[in-house]
Amino acid sequence: MDKNQHHFLQGGGEMGALIRSFNWDKNPLGNPESWSSSLKTLVSMMLTTNFPVLICWGKDFTQLYNDNFRPINGLTKHPDALGGTAKETYAEIWDTIGPMFEGVMQGETFGFPNFKVPLHRNGYLEDCYFDFSYSPIRNENGETDGVLVICNEKTRQVNAFKELQQAKQELDFAIGAAELGTWDLDPSTNKFIGNERLKSWFGLSADEEIDLNKATDVIAEEDRSRVLADIAQAQIYKTGGQYDTKYHIINPEYSTPRRVWAKGKALFNENKEVIRFSGILQDITSEHNILQELRDSNRQLELALEQSSLSKIAAQLGTFDLDLEKNTMEWDDRCRVLFGINHQNQVSYQHDFTNGLHPDDRERVLDMISDVYIKSKTNGDYDVEYRTVGAEDHKIRWIRAKGKAYFDAQDKPIRFIGSVLDITEQKSDELRKNDFIGMVSHELKTPLTSLKAYIQILKAKANNSSAEFVADLLQRSEAQVKKMTSLINGFLNISKLESGKISLEKEDFNLTELVDELIAEFRILASSHELVYHSCPVILINGDRDKLGSVISNLISNAIKYSPIGSTVEIECKKTIDKAMISVSDQGIGISENDKDKLFERYYRVENKNTKTISGFGIGLYVSAEIMHRHESKIQLESHPGKGSKFFFELLLKL
Ligand code: ADP
Repeated sequence: MDKNQHHFLQGGGEMGALIRSFNWDKNPLGNPESWSSSLKTLVSMMLTTNFPVLICWGKDFTQLYNDNFRPINGLTKHPDALGGTAKETYAEIWDTIGPMFEGVMQGETFGFPNFKVPLHRNGYLEDCYFDFSYSPIRNENGETDGVLVICNEKTRQVNAFKELQQAKQELDFAIGAAELGTWDLDPSTNKFIGNERLKSWFGLSADEEIDLNKATDVIAEEDRSRVLADIAQAQIYKTGGQYDTKYHIINPEYSTPRRVWAKGKALFNENKEVIRFSGILQDITSEHNILQELRDSNRQLELALEQSSLSKIAAQLGTFDLDLEKNTMEWDDRCRVLFGINHQNQVSYQHDFTNGLHPDDRERVLDMISDVYIKSKTNGDYDVEYRTVGAEDHKIRWIRAKGKAYFDAQDKPIRFIGSVLDITEQKSDELRKNDFIGMVSHELKTPLTSLKAYIQILKAKANNSSAEFVADLLQRSEAQVKKMTSLINGFLNISKLESGKISLEKEDFNLTELVDELIAEFRILASSHELVYHSCPVILINGDRDKLGSVISNLISNAIKYSPIGSTVEIECKKTIDKAMISVSDQGIGISENDKDKLFERYYRVENKNTKTISGFGIGLYVSAEIMHRHESKIQLESHPGKGSKFFFELLLKL
């Protein structure tokens, strides 16, 4: 049959073409030309409408449907459904819809929104949802010939709604689990809704509508204006709508104020007006309290340290912290200084610690640390002294390090923490002391060797020697004994000085007489230099005769020691109305400006090529300065390197 004959079947897309190519002679509907005009109109409408439409015709409910109904039949039912019976097509739901179809044939109509239909249409059983209506198709005689099904599939919307519902449930659960409060403000009314938790924090009953202005009453006085400003700020478009603030809530139901953290975001429309402002509230009271406690105890510690002399040490203590699991190492500023590091970059055990150790100490320290990590061996205790070579300044420093390793349940070390202290000063004192003892022994041995030799000679010559020879040797011996005595006195003085036990035995005496005696002695002992002495009349003073004598001796013997053989040493006494002045001048190596003040420090000796071969301990001037200080006087000095020096002091006359 020529399909173009059925002019009322024109158009209709895919379904229209299929319907036109039907073998109508075998179809219960019969040849379309024989259809009643109302059926023709109905089929024509079906093919042109945008709604999904299904016509079920006759007692078997033979089906015709349009393009929009086509997806409802899916891939499984189409195209068999076209021209097939509804009972076969919808076998899985026939129990439900069959009676309704029969009802329609009796003249009833049915309609349901969101009707659930489990359809097998795309190879699997799917819960589908439809808004539908079933209504009778009547002929001219008023009899029902079939069922008109008009429906609208809602499966996608229903599923989307379900997902939304599910997401909301999950969100509610998360909010509940995190013990969060939620709020959602309507900016046009300044009223907001909040969840139960939020309401309980704000002391509001569950059904109460919340007025923002009222709700903020519970915010602690000192926080309120700031929070209100933050809320207002977030609702200004150009701030980006971010809201993040912390404050206290004072709710009479709770014994202590609650600390909360509010976070939220404002949403704006295209006119940059705020349309919604919502967010969460978190109770951070306990975190806040713990932090506060920590801060308080830290502050107390700082205070205690500030008040005690420990603070000085504390400031010098550096700290190190090794995380042995993460393999990281932290050094504070002080610790960095002790390894000669100036930067703030990350430091590492290998690069900074191991390399920073002095090569002579490295192996010992690293061995020690591997023992620290063995709990059974050291219990994690660490206490060591070593040298570092500054990474940037190349300075050598002595360090005292103390620390402790911490272990897990399996005795595996997990952390190693400790402190370091610069003991360079202390160490160099120790080293100096050792040098000093070496020097002392050496110096004392020299006169002793001479004495021993003189005694041996005297013994050998005892029987047949001339008196002059004996006298000469005895005099030499006496000089050596004096030298040794003065050395020993020097040491005794210094040890007395250090322990604060030096005491003066003051008396009135004639200073000129003391200097005369000393010069006479030097003339015998030091024939290497010419001593020029300008004596004075009687100078009566009050002081410790022996100690002042040792000061003058020291100045004269230094003048001899530090000037060339054969040069002149000049000793002068001067008397003014109320003072006496003693000076000792030489033509020796002199003293540089730099060294002048330091000469009077303990163990200080000028070190240069001129002084290298001259023995001494650097204690003479130190002790002399102290003695003069006890006499309310001071040793002064004029000197020109290479030309000579003049040491002098003044003493008040005894009037
Ligand atoms: P010592 O002579 O035993 O080293 P002193 O305390 O008497 O110790 O002197 C300290 C240092 O001062 C000496 O080592 C020397 O370098 C310097 N000094 C002292 N007197 C003179 C001087 N007359 N001329 C040059 N240098 C001197």
